[in-house]
Amino acid sequence: MNRRDELAGNLAAVRERIAAAVLAAGRPAGSVELVVVTKFFPSSDVRILAELGVRQVGENRHQEALEKARDCADLGLRWHFIGSVQSNKAAAVTAYAGVVESVDRVKLVGPLDRGAEQAGRQVECLVQVSLDPAGTTGRGGAAPGAVAAVADAIDATEHLVLGGVMAVAPLGEPPAPAFERLLVVADQVRRDHPAATAISAGMSGDLEEAVKYGATHVRVGSSVLGSRPPVQ
Ligand SMILES: *Cc1c(COP(=O)(O)O)cnc(C)c1O
Repeated sequence: MNRRDELAGNLAAVRERIAAAVLAAGRPAGSVELVVVTKFFPSSDVRILAELGVRQVGENRHQEALEKARDCADLGLRWHFIGSVQSNKAAAVTAYAGVVESVDRVKLVGPLDRGAEQAGRQVECLVQVSLDPAGTTGRGGAAPGAVAAVADAIDATEHLVLGGVMAVAPLGEPPAPAFERLLVVADQVRRDHPAATAISAGMSGDLEEAVKYGATHVRVGSSVLGSRPPVQ
């Protein structure tokens, strides 16, 4: 099978899973957006995905994202940065990212705002929420009690737009109760900032649970692109 047929088949299957989960949750059709996570895969795959109707892609490493966004600049895609952001790279990420999903501390907000100003456009930011047991670092993100301060800092800038929240399900725990906790945090953020409606949650293995608990965006990599080389 050629790569295009493989990606087309996988993408159709993922879109069906999302549609079925939306229906099962009693939510309106089309209320969940798909971000395809293309990390580790080449720009040629991004190009095929764009031809297949994908509009939003996710990357988690700055250098790789920068190069792919350059290769694919003609495609009009919306790039989501979903990896941990180093303070000294924050401004650089805004050169290509339309959305930075992984803002987990107030310290990143100033550099991101300056980067967005330099890029000459608004950049959407999500607050990454930790769903790990308190006191562990696990999969990153701000502790739930620290989320409001990060959200307020983003909202107070001129060039950043607070979009909502993002999270990765914790390891070693079923995803559903974790996504339920995320929804509580998301509702608190929405109470303070009514336009911040995005909940980015759910990946290849747990998108159904995320949709059940209100995800507006799912980030799917391996179910579309195949398995990645193991992370070193
Ligand atoms: C890699 C990654 C994904 C996609 O994971 P899959 O299991 O391949 O679907 C989603 N979110 C984040 C933050 C990631 O790093």
